[in-house]
Order: sequence, then structure tokens, then C-alpha cells
Amino acid sequence: MKPEFLIVGGGIGGLAAALACSRAGVQVRLLERSAQLAEVGAGIQMGPNVMRRLYRWGLQDALTQVVAMPERLQARSAVSGKTLAELSLGEHALQRYGAPYATVHRADLQQLLLAAVQQQTDTRLTLNACVSSFTQSAGAVNLSTAQGLSLRADALIGADGLWSRVRQCLLGEQAPRVTGHVAYRAMVHQSALPEHLRSQLVTAWLGSRLHVVQYPVRRGEWLNVVAVVQGHLGGPENQTWDHQATASHLRAALSKAGAHASLQDLVAAIDEWRMWALCDRPPMRGAFEQAQGRVALLGDAAHPMRPYLAQGAGMAIEDADELARLLADGPTDIPDLLQRYAQTRWQRNARVQARSIRNGEIYHAQGLLRWGRDRALSLLGPRIMDMPWLYKY
Ligand SMILES: Cc1cc2nc3c(=O)[nH]c(=O)nc-3n(C[C@H](O)[C@H](O)[C@H](O)COP(=O)(O)OP(=O)(O)OC[C@H]3O[C@@H](n4cnc5c(N)ncnc54)[C@H](O)[C@@H]3O)c2cc1C
Repeated sequence: MKPEFLIVGGGIGGLAAALACSRAGVQVRLLERSAQLAEVGAGIQMGPNVMRRLYRWGLQDALTQVVAMPERLQARSAVSGKTLAELSLGEHALQRYGAPYATVHRADLQQLLLAAVQQQTDTRLTLNACVSSFTQSAGAVNLSTAQGLSLRADALIGADGLWSRVRQCLLGEQAPRVTGHVAYRAMVHQSALPEHLRSQLVTAWLGSRLHVVQYPVRRGEWLNVVAVVQGHLGGPENQTWDHQATASHLRAALSKAGAHASLQDLVAAIDEWRMWALCDRPPMRGAFEQAQGRVALLGDAAHPMRPYLAQGAGMAIEDADELARLLADGPTDIPDLLQRYAQTRWQRNARVQARSIRNGEIYHAQGLLRWGRDRALSLLGPRIMDMPWLYKY
């Protein structure tokens, strides 16, 4: 008998878990509260640690159709415009880590994961299924949705994101914390930009109390831009907070920070921005936060993080891969399997969460610290930017 898993949430984490677990021989029922699967119009960076896993799942051809593979990652001063440091990606990443560094439109990644999930015979997707509660006993998990569906299975995987209901039921915790950082996101066709603003590189513009990251997606045809500015918006910074932003807020912040003309030109050349109040949780404190009994958390439900290491979705994919690796070992006791999953994953996730917070402090450094940051990057460049502990994993 194949074990039956309920996976809650059809984001990148839930889809990755559904694919990896069904490939490992589990019957999967994926429950998503929305009427259709839709990702926000934004990009995602995927390091070699992530691409290696996606390739192993048979997604190499599908990925090649949609990703961009930037040649370099560069750090530039948001004030002087000077290139502080560069790290070779492209062939270098492939040689060093056995997989490329890629950038992708979130909707493209979601679609290709969905297509792969739909090819798995033992996997069923149910939309309009908002999970409201669950109970677990020695032999099973029983789950209910707001729509009146009741389901029973061997295990429940909560991949329901930052505001996870599964986490709330499992750990009885408070809401995520508001970081006071606001992300402005935009996507523009490169042909709509003046020649000098088009780019095929990953560029991080580092300022004081703000930074901007740009990179190509959709085979390089589009440019994704994310600007993060410190400061509360004075609104309801909760899960519904995805407002259409006027570029004027962002322009004012850049001009106040004395941003370089090329950066100001880039932002001025884009009309449509979305605003996103960033929330997170402190780094995980133990395996109990990732699994208890027959219930496990995965992705943002377990370890929501600041996006300054570009690894939130990456850690969700690593979680899914680890779960599948343990399942592939053969028939086992489910609580024991989930406990081993939690033991293997929580410290890695906590480390990435902590490093993401630290990176944010460095990206937004002021005064002497900012001077030290720029100097260290100029002197040590690739030695600081390359992260074997992260990409080799
Ligand atoms: C500005 C920004 C930039 C980022 N850049 C990167 C990057 O470059 N690289 C990277 O790896 N990560 C990045 N991230 C992080 C990444 O976006 C997230 O870590 C990732 O999307 C989390 O995926 P998830 O599936 O865990 O959660 P989500 O994407 O939040 O998916 C959760 C799903 O669960 C569903 N759901 C919620 N509640 C219920 C319920 N009760 N019942 C049923 N379904 C439910 C939701 O509708 C949703 O579909 C970035 C994040 C931000 C904010």
C-alpha cells in the first residue's frame, strides 16, 4: 500500500513537495484554497543548490525553455554607481557546483512544476479547498476545509506559506513579524527600456536603508526589478498587502538616499510597481518547528525569511527533496520519517534565515559600516559573494 499524503498549498513549495513525494512513491492530494494557481508577476533567483534538484526531478528541458542564466552577479554602489565586486556565474557555477545559477519568472516556474505534477498518476489537485483545521491520532491525520471537505491520510504537509493555517494549528503561534522593510517589484520587457538600461546580469545596488536587485527572466527578454526600502507604510501590513504602488514613493526614497543617475533612470523608466510589506519569523529554534507526529511544515510555512539571500523558494525545494529522499528509502513509520526530515532540515533553514537577516543589514548599512562594506567588497569581491556552504549543499 502506498502511503497517502495531504499537501496544503499550491505555491512553489507545495508543488515541489507534490512532485518530489509522488516521484518517491506516495499518493498525493494537493489542496489549494484559490480557484486557480497563480503566482505574482515577479522573478526568482535559483542557485545551483536548487537547480541541481530540479534537474534531478527531470525538469532540465522545461527549465531551459524559460530561465535566464546570467553570466555574472555584480554588486554596485547605489550612490556612486561604481561596480564594487563581481562573481562569475554561467559556466563558472556549472563547473564549480555542477548546476547553473538561473533566474526565472515565478509563473513560469509554477507552471512547469504544475505540468510535472499533473503527469504523476497518483497525484490529485483540489482547488477551492481552504484548510481550516486538522486532528492527528496514532494512525492518521484528519483534515477539514472551509468548504466542508473531510479527508483522512497518513501524513499532512503544510506548505501554505507565510500565514500558514497548518502552522497555527500545529504550534499555536502568533502572526509573522513585520520587518519594516517594503519591497517594490516590477517586471518590464527589455525592449521597452533604453539600450543602456537593458541587462543580462544579476545586479545588486547597495545603498543606505535601501537596495535594488535587477535580473533578467524569460530567456533574458524581461527584466525583473525589486527595490527594498526601510520604513513602515502606515497601513494594514498583513497578508492582503500587495498594493499597486505609484513609482513616486520609490523615486522619492531613491532621491533622498542620493541614488546614482543610472539607478534613478531605471526606476523612472518603469511605470507599474507592486508594493509588498516584508514579514518573516525568527530563525527556527528546533526540529519541533518543522514536524510533529504526522504533520510537517515546508517552505514559508516553516521558515519564512527575508529575501536577501534569494533562497526562500530554494529552501522549500530543498525541503521537498529531503522528504522525497527519505521516502525513497522504503516503507517506514510516518512520524519517524517526518522527525528525521525535521532533524535534517531545521538547522539548514535556520542558518539561511539568519544569513538573510544579516545580508539585509549589510545591504542597508549606513555611515562607517557602509564605507566598510563597499571597501570589503572592492578588496575581497568574489570571496565574499561566493557561498559554497549554500550552493554545494
Ligand atoms: C521580494 C521577494 C523576493 C524573493 N526572491 C526570491 C528569490 O530570488 N529566490 C527564492 O528562492 N525565493 C525568493 N523569495 C521567497 C519566495 O518567494 C518564497 O519563499 C516562496 O514563494 C514560498 O513558497 P511557498 O510555497 O512556501 O509559499 P507560498 O508561495 O506563499 O504558497 C502558499 C500557498 O498556499 C495556499 N494556501 C494558504 N493558506 C491555505 C489554506 N488554509 N488552505 C489551502 N491553501 C492555502 C496559498 O494560496 C498559496 O498558493 C522572495 C520573496 C520576496 C517577498
